Amino acid sequence: MIKDRRPPAQKQEEDLMSKRTLGLSDALYAYLLDASLREPPVLNALREETARLPQSNMQIAPEQGQFMALLTRLTGARRCIEVGVFTGYSSLAVALALPDDGRIVACDISEEWTQTARRYWREAGVEHKIELRIAPALETLQKLRDGGGDGRYDFAFIDADKVNYAAYYEEILELLRPGGLIAIDNTLWGGKVADRADQDTDTVAIRDFNAKLAADERVDLSLVPIADGVTLARKR
Ligand code: CA
Repeated sequence: MIKDRRPPAQKQEEDLMSKRTLGLSDALYAYLLDASLREPPVLNALREETARLPQSNMQIAPEQGQFMALLTRLTGARRCIEVGVFTGYSSLAVALALPDDGRIVACDISEEWTQTARRYWREAGVEHKIELRIAPALETLQKLRDGGGDGRYDFAFIDADKVNYAAYYEEILELLRPGGLIAIDNTLWGGKVADRADQDTDTVAIRDFNAKLAADERVDLSLVPIADGVTLARKR
């Protein structure tokens, strides 16, 4: 047995810290929310209403919404794109953080779910900041590009069908200004990306997408292990 020669105080401190990202126990996650979450009542109400839907796991985590609001302010974003609206939690979190003349082009294909989103955007007084486009997002992104949108957007969030992640990313990278930021959701995919035996279509799409980004010299990169994994890619 090798004798530990560190002084007791140093030993204790080092053993208490983690150099690796912590896996959050239920108790530690509850603490994180308790210690840092500042969820406005309107976002809380939307989260509770959405929690009753069978698809509620498509909603982002509240600490992730707060993180995205912080990113919106950090980047000084005014022009944003969202691919995958669902019931509108992330777009609402971002819209609340935008200046009054800030705008989000919000892409989704569901009239049903975005009805809920619209209701909450209106209630929160940010409806004028969000331009909802009901169409396949690749069509909407192409229209933005055709309309001279390249290089004109500051911040984008991708959280839609996983097989199209790479295609959304390529269009959005053109639409972003240098220094603009793309956040991509679910890049840890419940841990399934690390299981090579998992060859599910969505798992493979995210795994391939992550590998593509790791090698992409056009962006600065960080995969942040918040919620289900959020990759941040900053256009160089
Ligand atoms: Ca998601």
